[in-house]
Amino acid sequence: MSELHAAKLNAIFVKFSTGGAAYYPSQVLPGSYHAGRDEPALCLAAARPYGIQVHAWHVCFQMKDAPVDRQERAIREGRVQLNRSGRVRRPSYGVPVLCPSHDWNRQQETRAMTELATRYAFDGVQLDYIRWPETDPCCCANCKKRFARDTRCAVRSWPADVIKGGRFAAQYQHWREQIITRLAGDISAAVRQARPSMKISGAVWSDVAVGRRDYGQNWKAWVDHRYLDFVCPMNYVTDPATFSKRLADQRAQVRNRIPLYVGIGAYRLGSGQELLQQISLARRGGADGWVLFNYDDQFRARMLPWLRQ
Ligand SMILES: [Zn+2]
Repeated sequence: MSELHAAKLNAIFVKFSTGGAAYYPSQVLPGSYHAGRDEPALCLAAARPYGIQVHAWHVCFQMKDAPVDRQERAIREGRVQLNRSGRVRRPSYGVPVLCPSHDWNRQQETRAMTELATRYAFDGVQLDYIRWPETDPCCCANCKKRFARDTRCAVRSWPADVIKGGRFAAQYQHWREQIITRLAGDISAAVRQARPSMKISGAVWSDVAVGRRDYGQNWKAWVDHRYLDFVCPMNYVTDPATFSKRLADQRAQVRNRIPLYVGIGAYRLGSGQELLQQISLARRGGADGWVLFNYDDQFRARMLPWLRQ
């Protein structure tokens, strides 16, 4: 925290939970192997003397660090996403991903976020991976059942009927986007009711059109509905011109409705000079702030010293 303060950073986003585990004593999610110390309490105590905000970062749906028996139970209960051959999808971290079409899974996400927002005096909570993980439809039984029930489309062949060129492709796109948008709204309402001062933010796909088409993530709607207090599009590119163009597109989507803190992919940049250049582009491009991904030993050694200047 003293190093962050010296580098003139005023906030940190710390991953305290995933869709399958909490790194703190939780009533909602099982504790992971990181448990044992009250990490959020220690983090907040360390940050306070330096006036650094702490935002709790939550990785939605991904069962990272979930105990094996919990992963197996979710698979047994048909609550995880399947690919076309009926196998469990493991797109990130090598772990199963809970399917957003399940009411129980979405409720767990809402309960986990509400717990984070109330158990500790964080400044905010950040939603990450709040989307479908892949373009290809989830082939779990619940998706087929719920799609037919919710849309009244008489599906004969799944996923052929709902993929590009299929009879119900448009309805499917809309359906899966609605599920995620409703979840963002549910989490926002629950967190605000539990703790009105809590800032809710999202780490979102850089291009909202691609996010909607490929991952059912319409973050513009979350901005328009004010589900978020600020938004962090992940502008993780190395080319300065692409960075600036994307930022301009993002500003056009947000239209100053809420602050836009642009995500900079520090891990992809070759030097501290490149990092300073992107920060400068973020400022000149009209971003309200910027967030760096991510803090690790390499960042600390190679990038952090440049921010002290
Ligand atoms: Zn599914």
